Amino acid sequence: MQVSRNVDRIAIGDEGPIGPPNIYLVTGSTGAAFVDTGYGNDAEVEECLALWADKGSPPVAAIVLTHRHPDHVGGASRLRTATGGRVLCTEVERGPVEGENATVDGTVGDGDTLDLGGVTLEFVDTPGHTMGSLCVLLREDGVLFTGDTVLGGGSVAISPDHGDIGRYVESLAKLIEIGSRLIAPGHGPVVDKPQTKLKWLIEHRRKREKQIIGLLSNGTTSMDGLFSAIYPRLETDLHRTARGQIRAHLMKLERDGKLVSAEPSDGPYVLGSSS
Ligand SMILES: [Zn+2]
Repeated sequence: MQVSRNVDRIAIGDEGPIGPPNIYLVTGSTGAAFVDTGYGNDAEVEECLALWADKGSPPVAAIVLTHRHPDHVGGASRLRTATGGRVLCTEVERGPVEGENATVDGTVGDGDTLDLGGVTLEFVDTPGHTMGSLCVLLREDGVLFTGDTVLGGGSVAISPDHGDIGRYVESLAKLIEIGSRLIAPGHGPVVDKPQTKLKWLIEHRRKREKQIIGLLSNGTTSMDGLFSAIYPRLETDLHRTARGQIRAHLMKLERDGKLVSAEPSDGPYVLGSSS
């Protein structure tokens, strides 16, 4: 599926709640780049290579990984072997990406650019979903690849173990400043009103934080209590992620000095400053 003048999207697999991972091919006059690589199953890799062949098999300047998660990293090795492209991610993600059995050939950071011939990729550090999450702006098309920092539908899970909600909201504000025309997300459909979506995501986090503070100050101070108040009718397979979201918010409140401690992990939590 064509996203913009120089961008095509591949998304294969069963539709979970957020949709299968998107893989993008960006093509310039002198080279091409993949942004994310899916799980790396046969159907995805074959489709990627067919699309690349369709473009005349241009030199692959980069296989960019937005972050460490296996549904984005999984195809990196196979695409690298088949195309000779260099696998790139941020320095922070390097170790975890290599932990997913992908070879990393180099790292990129905020403000770095890659010229594909009339098409420029600019890298934007956006910690939050994971601490080394990366977005990529295709300047000429005004397309912003966001990985899991922004999804096509709904909000994004922030893992309390390798993400940070405070940093995440700062990253969203940074993306508003960039002001792209389209967002090409890590899952789900292209977002054609980026500013509206980004503001909604920030607002969603603010509201959730307010809700948690409200519950804590009204005496709901355990993880179980917060969970059933915030997610009264959630499907069972999402419970762990949902509890992780609450945990990530509690950790932010502790860092902001609004909560004495986010430990023990099942509560009770006490509002106020530890200092
Ligand atoms: Zn992810």
